[in-house]
Formats: sequence, C-alpha cells, structure tokens
Amino acid sequence: MAERFDVIVVGAGMAGNAAAYTLAKGGLKVLQIERGETPGSKNVQGAILYADAIEKIIPDFRDDAPLERHLIEQRVWVMDDASYVGTHYRSEDFNKPPYNRYTIIRVHFDQWFNKKAREAGVLTICETTVTDLLIEGGKVVGVRTDRQGGEVRADAVILADGVNSRLAVKAGFQPEIKPENVALAVKEIHFLPQETIEARFNIGEEEGVAIEMAGKISAGMMGTGFLYTNKESITLGVGCMLSDFKQQKISPYELLDRMKSHPSIAPLIAGSEMKEYAAHLIPEGGYNAIPKVYGDGWMIAGDAGQFVNGIHREGSNLAMTTGMLAAQTLVELRAADKPFTAANLAEYKKKLDDSFVMKDLKKYRRMPEIFHKNKQFFTTYPDLLSRAAQTLIRVDGVDKKTKEKDIKKSFIASRSLFGLIGDAFKFWRAFE
Ligand code: FAD
Repeated sequence: MAERFDVIVVGAGMAGNAAAYTLAKGGLKVLQIERGETPGSKNVQGAILYADAIEKIIPDFRDDAPLERHLIEQRVWVMDDASYVGTHYRSEDFNKPPYNRYTIIRVHFDQWFNKKAREAGVLTICETTVTDLLIEGGKVVGVRTDRQGGEVRADAVILADGVNSRLAVKAGFQPEIKPENVALAVKEIHFLPQETIEARFNIGEEEGVAIEMAGKISAGMMGTGFLYTNKESITLGVGCMLSDFKQQKISPYELLDRMKSHPSIAPLIAGSEMKEYAAHLIPEGGYNAIPKVYGDGWMIAGDAGQFVNGIHREGSNLAMTTGMLAAQTLVELRAADKPFTAANLAEYKKKLDDSFVMKDLKKYRRMPEIFHKNKQFFTTYPDLLSRAAQTLIRVDGVDKKTKEKDIKKSFIASRSLFGLIGDAFKFWRAFE
C-alpha cells in the first residue's frame, strides 16, 4: 500500500472509533485498521454506555445509535452465599430525556460508530492485523500489517488496540501487563421475552436496571459481578484479578456458574436461553499502571493505556474520551502546522490530566493495592453484614439491645477492634 495517511488508528473499538471519527471531522486523512471481521466482533463489554462521552463526539447519537434500554435503577448488592445486603436507587429523573446511561450490545454499537467514522471520511480496513510499528530514528512512521506488502506510512499512529497492547510492548513503549493489574471477566447473554424482563425487574418498555455485585460472588478474589437488562436479553458476568485466578484453583466458568445459581440471581434468568458467551481482560491496575501514552509519532488511547475506572465500572467512556483527546491534539497541531513530535504530543497528556479521566483514576490510585492486600473486604465483611442484617430483621423474642451486642461481638470476634478500625481506615483511603 503506497498511499500515505496523516494518521493510522489501530483498532475499531470505542477508543479507535472515537479517535478516527474526530480526526476525520477535523479534516485529517485517516486509515483505521481492525483485525476483527467487523468492528466490534472482537469486543466485550457489560455493557453500559455513558451518554456523556459519546455525546461530546456525536451530539445527536440518540437519533440512530443502537441503544437497548435507558437505565432508571441502579442496584448494588453485597453478597454472601445465600443472601445480599443491597441498595437500590431508582429515580424518575433518570426516566426523562436526555437519558444518561444506556445498555448496549457492543457489536451493534461498534458497527454503528464505525459507520459514522467512515461517513466522516475514515478508511477502515477489517480482517487486518497490525503486526509491528515502523520506527525510524526513534519516530513512529507507520505500521506493518499481516497483508502482503502491507506497510503503510503516516505522520502519527494512535494505538487503540485494547488491553494488553502487543504493539506497545513490542515497541518498548510499555512493559508486559502484570497479572495483578488485569482482571479476567466472563459474561453471558441470556434471552427472554421482553415482557418477562419488564415484569421481573418492574420496568416499562425501554427502561432498564443495572445490578453491580460484590462480596462472596468473587469467591474470595478481588472482583465483582454484574447483571444488566437489554431489550430482550439479560447480560451477566463476573470478573476477578488474573493474579487471584492463578492462586485460587477456580476457573472463571465455575465462578459464573456459581453466580447464576445464587438464589437471588437464578430466578432473574430462569427459563432464559443462553446464546452468547465471552471472556475478556479488563485493565484494572488504575492510575499507577498507566504507561507513557505518547512519544514521537505515537499515542495510546483506551484500554491499551489502562484507562479503566474499575470502581465505577467505567471503561468505554474513558476509551472514547482518550481517543477523542488524542485526535483533538493531532487536529490542533495540524491546524497550527506543527509536527507530531513527542514535545508537541505532550499536549495530549495535558488534556488527559485536565479531564475527568485522570482526575478520577488519580482519586482511586490506592484502591487496587488496598483491595489486593485486604481480601477480608470480599470474604469476611459480606458474611458479617449478612448475619447482622438477618439478626436485626428476624423476630425471635430476643430484645434489640441484645441483638446489637451480638452483632458488635461478631464483628470484633472476626476482625478484632484494631482490625476493624484499621479496615475502616483502609476502606476510606481506597476511596478518598
Ligand atoms: P477494545 O474495545 O478492546 O477495542 C480494541 C480493538 O482493537 C478491537 O476491535 C481489536 O480487535 C483491535 N485490535 C487489537 N489489536 C489489533 C491489531 N494488532 N491490529 C488491528 N486491530 C487490533 N465499560 C463500560 O464503560 N461499561 C461497562 O458496562 C463495561 N462492562 C465491561 C464488561 C466486561 C466483561 C469487560 C471485559 C469490559 C467492560 N467494560 C465496560 C470495559 C470496556 O469494554 C472497555 O474499556 C472498552 O471496550 C475499551 O475500548 P478500547 O477501544 O480501548 O478497546
């Protein structure tokens, strides 16, 4: 391929499509390379779409984007083997347009997003893998693909190739991803008639519910589960740190099976037909795991740069935002007739630092280490919480003062007074 481009974008996921679309709208000549058969065919998400991020790129996305349901209720469950202690937040405010969060099916959404990019002028080539970056004199000048004679040159390359970017590792831009910085998640899509979903979740047409789960659902590992309602299906899954899976002798499939048979979850998917199964990594190392994200002629966006907020289960919006900011940097530099050198691309990092992306990740920078080292948050406390709730709720002739004393005793017996104070401090530090 002798043609030369302003920018090559590797990947047609959330980050890649956001970058490619923004670049083309900014007047740059863009080649986007995707290894999957179609955009989205390789991509996995829960999937909650945060409207704010896509709205900044395509303000009228609601007109034709494939959206499943807008979320009106958020449940958070802390689970033991037989129960959950939870909060449910439901508001009519979430039921008024413009809606803030939607469920989506990634393959449909990615195809729509990529169509928008192509309509804006992007040339997308699928079924093509970028195997190497072309580097001359320390500067990235293009890519090599697995197609015959498949070298393409450009003034800059945006790596939006997802978690565990082999290209960035090969080029020496970032080290190999560590098992303690990445979660392995598995998910299934279960199909049910629309009316059944609406009756089970007490929702109307187009309204949706998200359930986030923590506690013993992760079998003592650092991880969480989720369940989201689509139009005619329910997506549910669970993810835990890869380093924990290596230690515990349990497979992700077993974990998901256990989750599906939990007495609070089984009735929600009863009678459904499971049609899709997927497994994928999620970068969850947080702020301290973010590599260098720019250099001479290259930038990294999305999961490839570890931009995931595991606490709030936000990834796609960080991917879109970082893709957009990378692209905006290049558009501005081109308008100012400045070359894509590392010194000039430092503007991308400045934009990231000023955005919610880095601010949020910085806020939770201690979280991964604290939760790694304190598995009691995933084991002991869910049990204690459940027992406390049951003690208080059960009417059995025992007076309430005695019940309160019993609850206090059970907490101290499990963790000791100093342990409890220490845990409260660690918990606060993780979220501070
Ligand atoms: P990806 O979407 O992974 O896209 C990378 C693309 O690059 C792929 O299409 C891939 O095929 C392509 N590619 C890779 N290497 C090459 C190569 N060498 N050559 C050519 N193409 C290449 N986020 C949310 O916001 N909400 C959620 O509800 C949510 N739930 C999740 C549930 C699960 C189970 C998982 C795994 C993730 C979830 N996330 C969620 C995170 C979210 O999916 C990611 O943060 C997001 O997909 C990252 O987008 P990306 O474009 O960086 O990477």
